[in-house]
Amino acid sequence: MATNGAQSKAGDWRNYKRVLLPPIRDLHRLEVYEAHGGYQTLREVLTSDRWDPKSVIEEVKKSKLRGRGGAGFPTGLKWSFMPPVDDRPRFLCCNGDESEPGTFKDRQLMEFNPHQIFEGILIACYAMSVRTCYLYVRGEFARWIEHMERELEKLYAKGYVGKNIMGTDFSADIVIHKGAGAYICGEESSLMESVEGKRAYPRIKPPFPAQRGLWGYPTTINNVETLANVPLILRNGGEWFASIGAPNHPGPVLYGISGHVNRPGVYEYPTGMLITDLIYEVAGGIRGGKKLKAVIPGGSSTPPLRADMIDGVTMDAESLREAGSMMGTAGLLVLDEDTDMVSWLRRVAHFYAHESCGQCTPCREGTGWLENILTRIEEGEGRLRDLDLLLDLCDQMEGRTVCALADAAAWPVRYTILRFREEFEARCKPSLVPTGIDLTPTG
Ligand code: NAD
Repeated sequence: MATNGAQSKAGDWRNYKRVLLPPIRDLHRLEVYEAHGGYQTLREVLTSDRWDPKSVIEEVKKSKLRGRGGAGFPTGLKWSFMPPVDDRPRFLCCNGDESEPGTFKDRQLMEFNPHQIFEGILIACYAMSVRTCYLYVRGEFARWIEHMERELEKLYAKGYVGKNIMGTDFSADIVIHKGAGAYICGEESSLMESVEGKRAYPRIKPPFPAQRGLWGYPTTINNVETLANVPLILRNGGEWFASIGAPNHPGPVLYGISGHVNRPGVYEYPTGMLITDLIYEVAGGIRGGKKLKAVIPGGSSTPPLRADMIDGVTMDAESLREAGSMMGTAGLLVLDEDTDMVSWLRRVAHFYAHESCGQCTPCREGTGWLENILTRIEEGEGRLRDLDLLLDLCDQMEGRTVCALADAAAWPVRYTILRFREEFEARCKPSLVPTGIDLTPTG
């Protein structure tokens, strides 16, 4: 398929040099990371007159970095929500609980470049005058958790973490917290409940974490990839970062491409890549030379785009919003022409029904009903009116719960039905007509 390079916002992406996952052997080891300039930015931030907490936050604002966990909230702005320092403790949580289906890029960073995450955490702690960071990692990533724990011990031994870091008066601890396999723990307020040792029910926002976070104290929660960008911003400047990729959503980004492509994987490129370039050039096109049916651009909760909707669409919040979807986690699920959309959607619905924490009724009951009805349709027992019933259920779920899980469950259902309705109708029997109603046309 021809791709239109002229509309890409990613510049000369074919010659792009990776900065989040640079091609350096054994970079996950402290010695190697340091040999390539690692922790020099932290040293500079802590020791040079150029930097104080305020100017670090200003630089991050200048970079226009937006959170890479899925919501895309401006990072510098989030940091600036932390209240002025007083005698209360303050916390940072680094969210490494990635679990969104189609999202597998934080794992790559934790495996291949964990020190850039640690360095970003320490700079963020300095900027927000935080003394403790919890790095919350999905429990299934046990192997990388063990590795990060070993590397963290080295950092403590070297005086890069803990008391008086690098001989300065700045002190900060990093605690790695292992999750136990619940998707909901990646939601920021559930994550804090989990760290506090409670059942991970999401909290109502506002108050946002900067006002009332861990144990009620000021807290900021940032995704792993977001914080891994911070040393780059401080080293090269906010303007440098802002000049990469899409102007309103800039920087390098890890695209996770999965599904029916020849070369699935995690690829680092600037934001603003054409979806078509990612599928046909980066990921080697569709398996078996088949045609594209749909792309889910940012993890399973983002609305699917039909093949005829992606021409000229780039991977940034603005372009994807105009196209009718979202950037999410930049985890692209690519579906070929043979994909059974009913079956696919039923599988997605099963995930959200399984992972609903059950706190809010619309989500607890709604996700189960979405799955039940879709199963009925998949098994050939659905009625045409089930499609409107599903859309009605989505109406009853969206925006009516404490956290976004119900929205995340409803969006794929709503938009898959709206955009692939014929496929669903073909699987349904006609609706039953209530007895006693004469449907003979009159007049
Ligand atoms: P959100 O938009 O509610 O919040 C995003 C961030 O901005 C939060 O940290 C929040 O505290 C902050 N924020 C938002 N409005 C604010 C305000 N007015 N004042 C202060 N702070 C404010 O989104 P969310 O519920 O945190 O996340 C939803 C997204 O998470 C989805 O879009 C989805 O893509 C993504 N997601 C990712 C994964 C994964 O595995 N990475 C899993 C599930 C969902």
